[in-house]
Amino acid sequence: MKNKKYVLITGGTRGIGKGLVHAFSNEGYSVIFTYINSVDSALAIEKEANASELSVKGYRCDVTNLKSVQKLADTLFEDDIVPVGLINNAGITKDALFARMSSDEWNSVIDTNLNSVFNVTRSFVSKMMELDKASIINISSISGHKGNLGQTNYSSSKAALTGFTKSLSLELARFNVRVNTISPGYIDTEMLQLIPDDQRKKIKKSIPLRRIGTIEDVASLALFLMSDDASYITGQSILIDGGMSA
Ligand code: NDP
Repeated sequence: MKNKKYVLITGGTRGIGKGLVHAFSNEGYSVIFTYINSVDSALAIEKEANASELSVKGYRCDVTNLKSVQKLADTLFEDDIVPVGLINNAGITKDALFARMSSDEWNSVIDTNLNSVFNVTRSFVSKMMELDKASIINISSISGHKGNLGQTNYSSSKAALTGFTKSLSLELARFNVRVNTISPGYIDTEMLQLIPDDQRKKIKKSIPLRRIGTIEDVASLALFLMSDDASYITGQSILIDGGMSA
């Protein structure tokens, strides 16, 4: 996997992350992705990609654990692998009304959605700053821009990514490392597929473009932000929500 354009995607075994792995490898990037539990899924993704001669490799790495992330970074650096792109995608929800929210529900969401972004970005950023150019994309959510019942933990973690992105983009601009955030609205992932049909209909009605977003919608935006076509875009938080936040 040497002399290639590497992109590191956290949480690549399911949902949006899996779609990003697919899209970036098909676009010619060498993709490194992480996961925590889904070993079989990771192997299947690697196998399928490699059968099509795409360069995809998964690593089990708990992004909430700095040591685990540093171990991954050391492994890659030893092989002279420095990603030109980093997508902080891994994320979880643990919804509960705030009056009933446990400290575990609060802390695990902040750890996975926010502290992980520190762990991963901090472990890779110095080497990325040594490249001619690089790009970091943080996957936030519409819930980081507007409130959602039962999501004080999730909204807090995702809103924080906006501030993180803005400040880091200022620090890294002189190294030509761009930092942006993508904030999806409703996207057709496994989570949404569990919602009963009548509720899905209501959701669709609440979206100005009258459809639920696809994983491909998000992947297209990520590919654009990673590309030279977006070389003058940094520090931005781009909502991809069918107009919900308009
Ligand atoms: P999924 O729940 O489908 O997948 C989450 C991914 O993150 C999995 O690959 C999972 O690995 C990985 N992961 C979770 N915790 C860790 C950890 N501690 N260390 C390493 N990897 C971990 O997520 P979605 O596709 O639904 O969401 C992806 C991102 O998009 C998230 O940040 C989410 O907040 C955001 N988002 C999603 C929306 C949606 O509609 N789905 C809408 C708006 C934002 P494993 O499979 O091993 O568990």
